[in-house]
Amino acid sequence: MIELAGLTKRYGRTTAVQDLTFSVRPGVVTGFLGPNGSGKSTTMRMILGLDHPSAGQVRIDGRRYHQLADPLTHIGALLEAKAVHPGRTAYHHLLCLAQSNDIPLRRIDDVLDLVGLAGVAKKRPKGFSLGMGQRLGIASALLGDPRILMFDEPVNGLDPEGIQWIRNLMKRLAAEGRTVFVSSHLMSEMALTADHLIVIGQGRLLADTSMARFIEEN
Ligand code: ADP
Ligand code: ADP
Repeated sequence: MIELAGLTKRYGRTTAVQDLTFSVRPGVVTGFLGPNGSGKSTTMRMILGLDHPSAGQVRIDGRRYHQLADPLTHIGALLEAKAVHPGRTAYHHLLCLAQSNDIPLRRIDDVLDLVGLAGVAKKRPKGFSLGMGQRLGIASALLGDPRILMFDEPVNGLDPEGIQWIRNLMKRLAAEGRTVFVSSHLMSEMALTADHLIVIGQGRLLADTSMARFIEEN
C-alpha cells in the first residue's frame, strides 16, 4: 500500500505537486491520470524517495522509502528516465542490482523469462529496441518480487504488441494481489487497464474514484 498525505513539491515559484492525499491499494490497477506537466513523475519520484517533498509525506507499507530495510522487495518502479549502463549485458545489469540489494540470484532468470528477454540476456542493451529496453526496466522492477509496482507512462512509444503485453502484465500483477500504480496522460489508455483512477491537474487531486464510477460521471 502507498499512502500520500498532504504531499507538496515546489521548484522555486513553480508548484509541481500541491497537497496530494490519497492511497493506492493492493489487488487492483490504479491509474494516475493527468496531462503532461501535471505532476505525475514528480509524485512518483517522491514516492521512491528520489525527490524530497516541500511538505507532506509518503508511506510505503507504513514507512518512508529510506526506512525500508530491503526497498526492492517492497516496491519496484519503471520510471521514464531510466539509466541502463550501455556497456553491461542485460544479465549483468540484473546481477549488479541483485548483488547490491541481497536479492537471490535465481530471481535473475525468473524475471528474464517473465519479460521474454531470456534469449538476449547476454547482449548489451545498447542494441535493444525501445520495447526491449522497457522490458529490461520492468525486469529490474520485478527483481525483488515486490508487492508494489509503479510504472511511469510505460506504454509511451511502444508498438501495439508491446503495449498489449504491458497491459496484460499489469493486470496479472494486480490479480496476484499486488499494488499496481501506473501513470498516463491518456484516458483511453487508463480505461483499458485501470480499475481505480487518481486524476490530477496542475499538481492537484481532481478525482479518486473507481473507473466504473468515473466513466459514469464523465
Ligand atoms: P467506496 O468503496 O468508498 O465507495 P470506491 O467506490 O471508489 O470507494 O471504490 C471502488 C473500489 O475501488 C473498491 O473495491 C475499493 O476497494 C477500491 N478502491 C478505493 N479506493 C482505492 C484507491 N485509492 N486505490 C485503489 N483502489 C481503491
Ligand atoms: P508529468 O509527469 O505529469 O508530466 P512532472 O512531474 O514531470 O509532470 O512536472 C510537473 C511540473 O513540475 C512541471 O511544471 C515541470 O516543469 C515541473 N518540474 C518537474 N521537475 C522539475 C525540476 N527538476 N525543476 C523544476 N521544475 C520541475
